[in-house]
Amino acid sequence: MKKLLEVKDLSVSFDTFAGEVKAIRGVTFDLDKNETLAIVGESGSGKSVTAQSLMRLIPMPPGKFTGGSIHFEGEDLTQKSEKQMESIRGQEISMIFQDPMTSLNPTMTVGKQIAEGLIKHQNMSKKAAHDRGIELLKLVGIPNPEARIKQYPHQYSGGMRQRAMIAIALACNPKILIADEPTTALDVTIQAQILDLMRELQEKTGTAIILITHDLGVVANAASRVAVMYGGKIVETGNVDEIFYNPKHPYTWGLLGSMPKLDNEDEELQAIPGSPPDLLDPPKGCPFVTRCPYAMKVCENHMPEYTELSDTQKTACWLLDERAPKVDPPESAKVGGSKVHG
Ligand code: SF4
Repeated sequence: MKKLLEVKDLSVSFDTFAGEVKAIRGVTFDLDKNETLAIVGESGSGKSVTAQSLMRLIPMPPGKFTGGSIHFEGEDLTQKSEKQMESIRGQEISMIFQDPMTSLNPTMTVGKQIAEGLIKHQNMSKKAAHDRGIELLKLVGIPNPEARIKQYPHQYSGGMRQRAMIAIALACNPKILIADEPTTALDVTIQAQILDLMRELQEKTGTAIILITHDLGVVANAASRVAVMYGGKIVETGNVDEIFYNPKHPYTWGLLGSMPKLDNEDEELQAIPGSPPDLLDPPKGCPFVTRCPYAMKVCENHMPEYTELSDTQKTACWLLDERAPKVDPPESAKVGGSKVHG
């Protein structure tokens, strides 16, 4: 059966003064109804460019698709005109951003911002859109929605603004909600509330979610599947248990090592030494080669193929080749006491 979203071999570059930045290079993943896929990686890994490409929010030029496809309900979004994309954005695929202050309009009431999409995409009357706005604010847990709907974003707290942005994104019942670092600007308690809210809303509406984050800790509770990105590529993908309890890629080990552990609060977090590759001139072989403590000669010049470890887990690393030395994950990547599932 066809998936709701199928991204195949997608590559996106940016023409810059210094040359062509190959921001994503052959990214493949899919998404089903009701599912939450987390795309995880450091800044510069290509995760946000991937998210923005799905919505066709990349300015072209300087951006350009250099290969691959994005099939949504069987139709390739890379081939759509801007006008066709306008009716998909907000209505079929919606996005919430890290900082609601920069994406909410400060000069419009929250009610008007919710109503805009409903009037435009669903031909609702002003009155019906207002009533639906109150329902949506209630759904995302904003108290006294009848009064709050008439207020401006600056009259909301940070957590409430994030909830309002979710209400706007959900207004037209999108099939996919893309959440780009939706909780990074919030404190830990509000962060947990927003993630719970997204999960509850998914149960009620069936919306599929793509969660973009740099923090593996955030995905443990929120996602069903995880794609780990590095240097413009997906280096490992699997369900949540596989990524947390049986990771096979040294970069995933590094990300897990940088998560706080519940059973050892005094332990120093292990940052991954070094910096991400220059995507103007990406390495010929494995993108992680300059930072990987296990790098071998073959890694420099040959990109490893994916090894399928299960129906759901795939990893691109030469350590999985039968000729490679056997390496166990470091202690720091073991998550027995980490904040997984809570
Ligand atoms: Fe490290 Fe080589 Fe595996 Fe890349 S392919 S992660 S450099 S061992």
